[in-house]
Amino acid sequence: MHRNAPTGDIDETQVSVTPPKDRAAGVEAVAVSLTRAVEEMGVIRTARTLARVNQRHGFDCPGCAWPEPTGHRRPAEFCENGAKAVAEEATLRTVTPEFFARHSIEELATKSGYWLGQQGRLTHPMVLRPGDTHYSPIAWDDAYRLVAETLRGLDSPDEAVFYTSGRTANETAFLYQLLVRSFGTNNLPDCSNMCHESSGTALTSSIGIGKGSVSIDDFAAADLIIVAGQNPGTNHPRMLSALGTAKANGATVIAVNPLPETGLIGFRDPQTLKGLTTGITIADDFLQIRLGGDMALFQGLAKLLFEAEDRAPGTVVDRAFVDAHTAGFAEYEKQMRSVDLAVVEEATGLSRDQLERTAQQLADSEATIVCWAMGLTQQRHGVATIEEITNLLLMRGMIGKPGAGVCPVRGHSNVQGDRTMGIWEKMPETFLAALDSEFGIASPRAHGFDTVDAIRALRDGRAKVFFGMGGNFVSATPDTEVTEAALRNCALTVQVSTKLNRSHVVHGRTALILPTLGRTDLDLQDGVKQQVSVEDSMSMVHLSTGRLAPVSDQLRSEVAIVCELARELFGPGHPVPWETFRRDYDTIRDAIARVVPGCADYNRKVRDRNGFQLPHPPRDAREFRTPSGRANFAVNGLRWLPVPEGRLILQTLRSHDQYNTTIYGLDDRYRGIHNGRKVVLVHPDDIAAFGFADGDLVDLVSEWTDGTERRVGGFRLVGYPTPRGNAAAYYPETNPLVPLDHVAERSNTPVSKAVTIRLERASA
Ligand code: SF4
Repeated sequence: MHRNAPTGDIDETQVSVTPPKDRAAGVEAVAVSLTRAVEEMGVIRTARTLARVNQRHGFDCPGCAWPEPTGHRRPAEFCENGAKAVAEEATLRTVTPEFFARHSIEELATKSGYWLGQQGRLTHPMVLRPGDTHYSPIAWDDAYRLVAETLRGLDSPDEAVFYTSGRTANETAFLYQLLVRSFGTNNLPDCSNMCHESSGTALTSSIGIGKGSVSIDDFAAADLIIVAGQNPGTNHPRMLSALGTAKANGATVIAVNPLPETGLIGFRDPQTLKGLTTGITIADDFLQIRLGGDMALFQGLAKLLFEAEDRAPGTVVDRAFVDAHTAGFAEYEKQMRSVDLAVVEEATGLSRDQLERTAQQLADSEATIVCWAMGLTQQRHGVATIEEITNLLLMRGMIGKPGAGVCPVRGHSNVQGDRTMGIWEKMPETFLAALDSEFGIASPRAHGFDTVDAIRALRDGRAKVFFGMGGNFVSATPDTEVTEAALRNCALTVQVSTKLNRSHVVHGRTALILPTLGRTDLDLQDGVKQQVSVEDSMSMVHLSTGRLAPVSDQLRSEVAIVCELARELFGPGHPVPWETFRRDYDTIRDAIARVVPGCADYNRKVRDRNGFQLPHPPRDAREFRTPSGRANFAVNGLRWLPVPEGRLILQTLRSHDQYNTTIYGLDDRYRGIHNGRKVVLVHPDDIAAFGFADGDLVDLVSEWTDGTERRVGGFRLVGYPTPRGNAAAYYPETNPLVPLDHVAERSNTPVSKAVTIRLERASA
């Protein structure tokens, strides 16, 4: 059954379309999980590996950041996409020096991300020097020397950019930011800049901490759960089990999304016979909202709640909570009472009945959770939208109460932990002071570059070195042409990676690939087994232990790479004990315990049965560490996204056979798209109104405020039940359409869910 790497690439003429499914998961998900796993790993390795995903003493799924249950864990504590993520990493296919000798960089640059990823695990450090046509092997020490000499040759440490992906474990993240700050810069962009930065910005301003306020057990205690701008069936599949439990306990679930995603509608729980056979309906109500209409929705609901309070005073607004814990309520109330519901209907595409029914459900609920993801954060007014969600929950006293709270659902396994460990271009002074005091270094205080600013700096020549700790920067970022030119502008690009991706073939004048261990791999340092730790979406921190023999004896752990590079960069006598840290990860955790707030006694607590939960003052004690000491009601004018005449608003999204930039396969079976990826989902009436037919090939042309245009060609039109005026297509294929300067206010997050496009008949 073991499958060889594909030799051919995607043939988009083979795309086929079938009706979307009405139930997610079920028998088919189990079959796909096992088939993909066995194809990549063989039977024995599959059995050994999947049995350890998300188990106590096992390893953390490298997929999303959904938490594990705190009680009993079932034998198969993973979803289909978790199994695919594990299979991708634990594959037996390898990309060796011989592979690179066979394939020139010019040839590799013509391959799709899917083809590159399917070739297997990287086995050796490789270098591409100026004028080279092929990557060639390099010894680790020579690679470190090359990086260190280039960094030391810069005019300023701020000419280097150090990116982090969400897979990076806490221990690596802590040491990596320590290396970068010891070197003298805060240029620490991360993938969070592109996903939940809007959530962190809004929540910090409103409740004093940029993290969600619910725990996994709150789902079982909720009356009402609103899931907005999120597709859990594909992106956080085990969340469906939590929603199923909530419903079994009597909760109501409302889905708010432009697309009727299968996982939102129905779910067959593969863990139970009943679930497998009959399944359940997830969403009691589906609000099919227009792209960018969420801020209007939450403001409209607030207005209706104030009207309900007028009809029955003292029953809707939690006055005791508002008076004791919040600031700015009067201004907020005034603003919400002025909201025009006719505008809300137009902005959302929802009827007055739907709005009133939802407001009534909010008024009746004693415990409400609102979950969200990129559909809200990657909007120009994403921060304000999340503030409106928080306003609504504060008004009802729904923070710091069982079964209630804010729940930004993170998409990458340790994206939240990396930020906790100091991966941020603007860490607060308290963190930097603690770091300096612990290690006797002088961290820079000037803020560094986030992702968008890093691309601008690389484009303009203000930064010359790009170091990527994991991820696939070129495919994850917007404005592909600009980003690729920025990377090509670099003197040196370094990618610490497990698998081949497009960021290895779009490179600086000199380029390094440093192959690293994955989550599933056994990490031995001087013969002693090491463990790492991660933090999930709900602030639970726990250990992760890989057991598989690495595919090559040349792989180094991310921790070892950081420590060995630091040794080369700083030389002997540096105040940080890099070699001690490399040999024994417990010593890193001891340092974390002394520097990172909430991590005291880290080594002991992380070994508890479920690990430990980081403090969250609003959740734990209704304490709000804002400058006023209270939770803040934000006052925002209403913004939404009218659709210009003859245009569509496009959202970029993932296929079900994809995880972030990693393409697992060509089967987006929930939406019924098979064998290809260049499709654009458009309402059938819009297709007809623009003079096209379902199946026609079109170019997508995005229009930007400065008059420039961007184009991607040869997309097949697929009639789909989107709202009128909205469209959807996969990334990274549509990243070229998102201008670099098209960012969310206050968070600088690329706005990939609100791109104005027109359709043109395909030019070629
Ligand atoms: S829900 Fe997320 S963390 Fe859990 S198994 Fe699936 S991909 Fe992995």
